[in-house]
Amino acid sequence: MASKLSGIELTRYDDLFKTDAEREADRQERIQIVPASEVFPYSRQPYTIDRPTPDLVRLMDSIEHIGIAVPNLEEAIKYYEEVLGLKCYKKEVVADQKVTTAFIKVGDVKIELLEATSPDSTIAKFIEKNGGRGGMHHMAFAIEDGVANALSEAEEKGVRLIDKAPRQGADGLHIAFLHPKSTQAVLTELCEDPNK
Ligand code: ZN
Repeated sequence: MASKLSGIELTRYDDLFKTDAEREADRQERIQIVPASEVFPYSRQPYTIDRPTPDLVRLMDSIEHIGIAVPNLEEAIKYYEEVLGLKCYKKEVVADQKVTTAFIKVGDVKIELLEATSPDSTIAKFIEKNGGRGGMHHMAFAIEDGVANALSEAEEKGVRLIDKAPRQGADGLHIAFLHPKSTQAVLTELCEDPNK
């Protein structure tokens, strides 16, 4: 049984042979029942939620950015700035990924707009498959404990990896991708700021 806040958690092989009562006992060991207001400071709800105990390995710490594929970067920036009133603070070409990126910050989360620089870029292929339109491309999580650690943890949990080791991404981050076939159909990026 996966807890809502525990990031990726898959059924382990030996769990398949346990009874429901044994699984429930395991779950009780792994979680703390806490008032919702302890996890969501603004919640006034009286309900309780299951929180993973601190020793449970959690892969993700927070959302670092949301990656959005766009056919035209300038048009997209114009929308985010002029309609939504946000500010693009950085543009960067990532030659390795054949994209130009633009970053916009909203709260603590960044939006990463991605425009292809070549027809064989994965972003160009994504847009082509999407009938020429852009759209949400990936979700990126911040990993404080290191992307390399998270990758081996994910692999151990049976997640298919796109990158076996971290590589250089945009905005100075070390990144790696998990395959959408293993991540509920959302291309998932793990990020680590080497300067943190
Ligand atoms: Zn990204």
